[in-house]
Formats: sequence, structure tokens, C-alpha cells
Amino acid sequence: MTISNALPNAASTTKFGSALECRAFFWFNYGVKIILANPRGFCAGVNMAVDGLERALELYGTPLYLFHEIVHNHHVVRTFRERGVTFVEDLAEVPEGAIVLFSAHGVSPEVRQLARTRRLKAIDATCPLVTKVHNEAVRFADAGYQIVLVGHEGHDEVIGTMGEAPQSIVLVEDIEDVQALPFTTETKLAYLTQTTLSVDDAQRIIDALKERFPQIVGPPREDICYATQNRQEAVRILAKEADLVLVLGSQNSSNSQRLAEIGRTMGKGAYLIDDVSEVKSDWFTGVETVLVTAGASAPEWVVQDLVSHLKQNYNAEVELRSIKQENVRFALPKELRPARTAAPSTAATTPSL
Ligand code: SF4
Repeated sequence: MTISNALPNAASTTKFGSALECRAFFWFNYGVKIILANPRGFCAGVNMAVDGLERALELYGTPLYLFHEIVHNHHVVRTFRERGVTFVEDLAEVPEGAIVLFSAHGVSPEVRQLARTRRLKAIDATCPLVTKVHNEAVRFADAGYQIVLVGHEGHDEVIGTMGEAPQSIVLVEDIEDVQALPFTTETKLAYLTQTTLSVDDAQRIIDALKERFPQIVGPPREDICYATQNRQEAVRILAKEADLVLVLGSQNSSNSQRLAEIGRTMGKGAYLIDDVSEVKSDWFTGVETVLVTAGASAPEWVVQDLVSHLKQNYNAEVELRSIKQENVRFALPKELRPARTAAPSTAATTPSL
């Protein structure tokens, strides 16, 4: 049903005075439909990192240091900052001997070494799926391969992965970069990808790599993680039914950016917003169905705030749509796991680092 055919005959702009009143009539009487996508929001890696930081606060209190943002979400970072966690971009800012957590995006061996040199008590909250890419980089480099990493320059994860074998890895961001690579069809070549890329864009770049370098080999299992793939697939399927796509997440969140991009590629109005305060009423002109989703680092409360706003202001009704079930869980870093209660122990109650 479109706005025009939903309105009674008498509902002309003459009767309503303006298009705005006309829309208000429609929303009041018929409402906007929200399709709430599932899976959305926190992935297993983000859950592990956030729970790990919670646990570290519980065990050690502050001062507690975080190297980079624990996950790329302003609300998550702000909440922990307000609770006394200090976020740093340089380990030199961490006092010797202090406790520092490495974020879900991972760090390079150089950063680990620096932490040891400064006698920091480091706790590694790197997502295991990022660690998998690091390990692949090390294995390929040790085997004499030149590695082409498909990713976004400057992203924390890319910096960490490239740091595993800096002499052997070159970054490509697009097909133009592939064309400019200095290798030949004789070069021993492998490719890896960042975990949070657009599945379609990454495939196009990999296809271009394979076309130019038929000898290139890839990882045994693809690097774009399950959470990235599932959230993108949900948008690809569900956005067909929507006029507007709203993605909760921060601008520096790669996987959230990709979700909004998919919406735009499908010809929809699509916006990446940190929270409901960024919603603009003119986005809703002519809109009957809104797809709401959230990047892997966006907390569920920002989604629920948005849904409440749409219910209140656009008489919205919610339809939950699940395209896949997720049941992936990652264990906390070993230093933060609860002590086993089954076996009697005389160990000190404060876990060692
Ligand atoms: S988006 Fe994927 S790789 Fe990144 S933290 Fe989540 S599960 Fe790990």
C-alpha cells in the first residue's frame, strides 16, 4: 500500500493543507512497518571483548588501560571510559607494570614486544577469527609466499595483521591496486582478507587477483567472518522489502559501514547512525517500511531506543525477521576466566596475569 492509495479520496493536500499533514495522517492511521533484522548487533568476538573488559574491571578495578578502542563503537567506549578505563593509542602512555588489554581487532608482534619491554601486564582480547588471519599470515610468510592482504588502510585489524610479516605483505583496497601490483605470474603469492569486508567487494578483488595471478592461493577457510557475512546477507535479503535502511553503528566500524553500503547499492536510502539522536524526519518522506539492523559492535539498547522512537513518532509496528541463527561463543582471555570451583585449591583468589 502506498501513501497515496491508502488515503481516502477526500484526503487531498487541499483537505490536509500540506504534504506534511498528509504524511502525518498516514502514519497516524497506518503506521510505518519496521523490519527488525536478525542476526544483528554484537558478534561472538565483540561479546568476548566486552565481557572480558567487564571482568577485568571486576577483578582489577582501575587504573585499567585499553590499547585502541575495545570495539569500534562510541557508546561502548564512552561507557567504559566513564567507568574509569583509559583508552590509549600508544603503549608509551601506559605506566610500566600496569594492566593493558588489547582490543578485539588484534595487535602486531611489535606491540606485544613493546608491552613486554615495558613490563606491562597484557591481556589479549583479540577475536579468535582475527587471530586466525594473523596465523595464516605467519604460515604463508614462513613458507616463502608474498601475501596480498585485501583490506582497508589504517584499520586496526589491518595494521595488526600486516605487522605479523611486514616484509611479506602488501595491502590492496580495490581493483586498481591489484592492477598496480609489481608481481609476476611466477611469484609465489597468497591472499588474505580483513574479516569485516563487503563479501561482494572482496570477491571482486579476489577474482581480479586470480585473473592476474592464476597461481595465487588463498586461506584454507575464508577470512571474512561468519558475523560479517550473516549481517550482510540479512540486509541483502530484507532490504528488498524496505524503502529505508537504518544501521546502528559507529562511522569507524568497518562492518557497520558495509551494511549501509549494501542498502545504498540496492537503491535504498540507507544511513549509518550511532543512535536515535541522529535520525532525521525527512528520511521518512514516502517511507512505509524501514529495515533496522546493527553492526557487530553496536549494543542492543541503541536498537531498542530507535525502535521506541519509531513507534512513538511514526506509529510503527515491528516485524522480527530472522535469516539465520547464530550460536558462536568465544572463551574469555585465559587470565579472565572464572576460577574453577570443582577442584579444591589453595591458590590466591586474585588471578595471576
Ligand atoms: S566481526 Fe567477526 S572478526 Fe570481528 S570481532 Fe566480530 S566475530 Fe570477530
